[in-house]
Amino acid sequence: MDLSFLNEINIKININASLKQFTTFKLGGFCPALIECPDAAVLRRVVILLRERNIPFILMGFGSNILASDYGINKIMLRFNNETPLVTREGNTINVDAATHLDALTQYATEQGLEGLSQICGIPGTVGGAIAGNAGAYGQQVSDHLTSVTVLKPDNSVVKLPRSAIRFDYRDSDLKHNGDIILSAEFTLNHINDTTSLKAAREEVLRTRPCNINLWRDIPCAGSFFRNVDPTSKAGQRQSAGWFLDNAGCKDLNLNGAHAYTKHANIITRDDGATAQAVYDLTIKMIDMVKDKYGIVLIREVRLLGKFNNAAGCNAENYW
Ligand SMILES: Cc1cc2nc3c(=O)[nH]c(=O)nc-3n(C[C@H](O)[C@H](O)[C@H](O)COP(=O)(O)OP(=O)(O)OC[C@H]3O[C@@H](n4cnc5c(N)ncnc54)[C@H](O)[C@@H]3O)c2cc1C
Repeated sequence: MDLSFLNEINIKININASLKQFTTFKLGGFCPALIECPDAAVLRRVVILLRERNIPFILMGFGSNILASDYGINKIMLRFNNETPLVTREGNTINVDAATHLDALTQYATEQGLEGLSQICGIPGTVGGAIAGNAGAYGQQVSDHLTSVTVLKPDNSVVKLPRSAIRFDYRDSDLKHNGDIILSAEFTLNHINDTTSLKAAREEVLRTRPCNINLWRDIPCAGSFFRNVDPTSKAGQRQSAGWFLDNAGCKDLNLNGAHAYTKHANIITRDDGATAQAVYDLTIKMIDMVKDKYGIVLIREVRLLGKFNNAAGCNAENYW
């Protein structure tokens, strides 16, 4: 694929890139090119040039909520990700480029004495990915203190949306489905003079999270694989997908090297050499076992990228 029209932009293009290198599951085949976009301005220029040529692409952030197919994907991947925080502050409002990592944003807020993000520290991935999926932990969600999001629309216009114009739900938002690309966001937080308590709260969360920010380096995974269950008559007050998986016996499963993490039934990991298909097959088995025992159908939170065998009947909205 000739991408020489992108030469005018200072970007890294990985030709025939392995998705293993760019997802925290460290699984998946190849894509024709993976373009690394370090900030919103670069991303916007790349997207416009691709759209002008009708070249399809798929947007990703850090790749911490994706299971990529062993067959790879026949589309260009745009990786909108920057390990260096791109943040500015005005009063109690932080403006952040969506390529920034969520944890870097929470650290910045802590250092600045701005309260409101401490429970969601230690979640891997970018601010863009976190807002799209309304990431959260310990009862706090990234949308809680969000005041606006600036998006690149499918027609290439740039629009600043107030928080009230966006539907946020449990691990979901309009922005995950409508083709808008999150370029940047504003969070309005509470200023407190004593940063000691904020730092202590952050340390406590980082210390106690069962699925800590670096877990995937040793235990390849994408965090919780299934969404928690809405309270229903079948679920009673139980909501934790991990509880249902545990009690349905799914922790003992091992399918071609794919299995649950010993400390948490809802975190799926894999042995060396196991494939993305094995992970996928395990999730089918888990869904069946929970359904047989509790009559509840678990829904994947992790997004599937590309083709999987035996995929009939899966929640299609989570596919690319
Ligand atoms: C060890 C570990 C622990 C985790 N713990 C938690 C947790 O506690 N809570 C939680 O909620 N999640 C958790 N996760 C899941 C994951 O970290 C979050 O879903 C994260 O917000 C994904 O961000 P990302 O940049 O990696 O997105 P990706 O995985 O790259 O992409 C996810 C989705 O977001 C979309 N997207 C990405 N960037 C943008 C953008 N700029 N504009 C529009 N759409 C975009 C993509 O198209 C895709 O649909 C965990 C994952 C791991 C590996």
